[in-house]
Amino acid sequence: MIPYGRQDITQADIDAVVDVLQSDFLTQGPMVPRFEEAVALHVGAQYALAVNSATSALHIACLALGLAPGDYLWTSPVTFVASANCGLYCGAQVDFVDIDPRSYNLCPDALARKLAQAEENGKLPKVVVAVHLCGQPCDMQAIHELSIRYGFKIIEDASHAIGGRYQKQYIGNCRFSDITVFSFHPVKIITTAEGGMALTNDEHLAERMALLRSHGITRETSKMTHEADGPWYYQQIDLGFNYRMTELQAALGVSQMQRLDHYVARRHELARRYDLLMDDLPVKLPWQHPDSYSGLHLYVIRLQLDKLKLTHRQVFELLRELGIGVNLHYIPVHTQPYYECKGFKADDFPEAIAYYRESITLPMFQTMTDDQQDAVVAALRKVLCS
Ligand SMILES: *Cc1c(COP(=O)(O)O)cnc(C)c1O
Repeated sequence: MIPYGRQDITQADIDAVVDVLQSDFLTQGPMVPRFEEAVALHVGAQYALAVNSATSALHIACLALGLAPGDYLWTSPVTFVASANCGLYCGAQVDFVDIDPRSYNLCPDALARKLAQAEENGKLPKVVVAVHLCGQPCDMQAIHELSIRYGFKIIEDASHAIGGRYQKQYIGNCRFSDITVFSFHPVKIITTAEGGMALTNDEHLAERMALLRSHGITRETSKMTHEADGPWYYQQIDLGFNYRMTELQAALGVSQMQRLDHYVARRHELARRYDLLMDDLPVKLPWQHPDSYSGLHLYVIRLQLDKLKLTHRQVFELLRELGIGVNLHYIPVHTQPYYECKGFKADDFPEAIAYYRESITLPMFQTMTDDQQDAVVAALRKVLCS
């Protein structure tokens, strides 16, 4: 089976992790700050907080922004559940904004309409999570302008987008957001096995997230309520968690970071090749915004079902039978039973549902060979044209 995504682990990665195993610190040593610095420098953000997953990063990002019971968090329905769940962790309510049919990202026009309505009802969101689906950045400038008008905070869920650019600048520099989150799960662009990071340019948010990832404990006297009792002393001044990244993960991250730009460039080569090889097939190819350089975590096609005798599900199943590890990103979150119970109906977000009925994620990963890619296209051609 050709997987839809997979990690690339080199001997240098393995050596970096083994070095940590033989060092004094398996956790809370020098590698986590080194990894944070490498990512912050690369993307151009002032502060970076490494944590044990992007889900944890989203959680502490929401808490740092003050999301609490009575507040609303809005996001796209076409995302992984974690982009929405972080709101529920904070006791806030979650709502969704339908996607743009071309970019598949949260639609700024739909957002503007929903905000105008929410203002009348007194239910404006405190936080909007903008998800860069497939690595393609959202229209951040438009979302940022709306945030000024309506006073909400912005988290970029850039789990798919490290190494990508928006208006020629690296995603993660938080130019149009309060906090940006990356994921380092093995299917993503670079990996630390499990892992995530929150980036910000706001010192106060960085301090809050640093506290929250480690029990709410500080060792800085300036943050304590009174002078230290002695050299052993620390204070818990907030309710935090253990969301720390290990030194092994961070060492892997530092090593992987050196290949980030190369990885994204290879993904662009593969995407261009897919575009060319499939331009006569009854599928809609992914649209790329001319002012952005996608991280290209995923390559998603939409079937032109009116030109096919097969159903979406049949095409999917036949491709799997032919050894092509296709996938679907994502089942719209508002249709998940846990969210359905909160009163969402499938057709509340019709563009998301239309997307779900036609979409297939084709395999794409940095070490994919041209031969593997040819096999994917041949299988798709066989299924769609016979
Ligand atoms: C993978 C992913 C997450 C969660 O990442 P983890 O590191 O696995 O917690 C969140 N949002 C999106 C859009 C993702 O793709």
